[in-house]
Amino acid sequence: MSTVAFIGLGNMGRRMAANQVKSGNEVRGYDVVPEAVTAAIADGVTPTGSIAEAVQGADVVVTMVPKGDHAREAYLADGGILASADPKTLLIDSSTIDVQTAQDLHDAASAKGFRFVDAPVSGGISGAEAGTLTFMVGGGAADVAEAAKYIEPMAGNIIPTGGPTSGQAAKICNNMMLFINLQACAEGAVLARKFGLDAKVFHDIAKVSSGNSWALQTWYPVPGVTETAAANREFAATFRTDLALKDVGLALAGAEQVGVDLPAAKLVAGEFEKVIAEGDADLDCSVIIRNIDPTSPGLPQR
Ligand code: NAD
Repeated sequence: MSTVAFIGLGNMGRRMAANQVKSGNEVRGYDVVPEAVTAAIADGVTPTGSIAEAVQGADVVVTMVPKGDHAREAYLADGGILASADPKTLLIDSSTIDVQTAQDLHDAASAKGFRFVDAPVSGGISGAEAGTLTFMVGGGAADVAEAAKYIEPMAGNIIPTGGPTSGQAAKICNNMMLFINLQACAEGAVLARKFGLDAKVFHDIAKVSSGNSWALQTWYPVPGVTETAAANREFAATFRTDLALKDVGLALAGAEQVGVDLPAAKLVAGEFEKVIAEGDADLDCSVIIRNIDPTSPGLPQR
């Protein structure tokens, strides 16, 4: 049995922490939102009131926070992970964050004698719940191999990506493709409905045809088609729109640095910006379908 400190118990983190409990580990959870900590007690997580309390005696710390600034806060602040944990503790950041922040965290951790890996995930809350996430793990080879042992209860795939920050680089490319696929899926769903096709029949066809994608299978933005879709629950977030824009923004910023133009990613960023400008940043990103058809079924009232 290992002791796992889990920092960030939101849509993803609380499900990932629950799988650590199921695998027999002692899990100590912390989130800046006290209600998130309280909710995790039902999964067998031991609640804590601070990062310092959570990381005490931990073999490994897993962080699952929204953005680079939150990760900096969790690791670098007074009372944060680097100030509070024993340097023997292995540090795993599974948040999706920018490459520069990931590099800064690698550097700060190693300056204090910690082993740190960037290990972002793909697979959504359904993968987090099922323990089938894909982890993309960047860092020193020995640290990545050690991290894999702790990641295993949460993972379907664990893929070493190379040196520090390579996990984040892979994740940024993957998610850019995901959100372009989501836009395609939303446009296909609207056009199929306007043509008079039954949503489920069209989905069944696309799923076994060349229109298939993970977004189509998991997030189809029409109610009553795929069980995991937020469309069934008035677009309550499985993946918040502001986090989706963050991810596409990471791809666009990276593309600018390496001198590549990404027209479809730019278009999708604009679609997410529209959703956010209309006040729906906290809704699931599949609400993007409203931009194409405000009368699409299942949309929450404004
Ligand atoms: P979320 O907003 O639901 O949860 C994040 C949690 O972190 C919140 O509960 C927040 O209170 C907490 N937090 C923020 N700063 C903190 C700090 N300093 N210390 C402790 N807790 C802190 O977000 P999520 O959907 O769980 O996503 C988490 C990360 O995983 C993001 O980087 C996201 O891009 C990535 N991701 C999400 C999905 C998905 O489908 N939701 C899939 C893959 C990757």
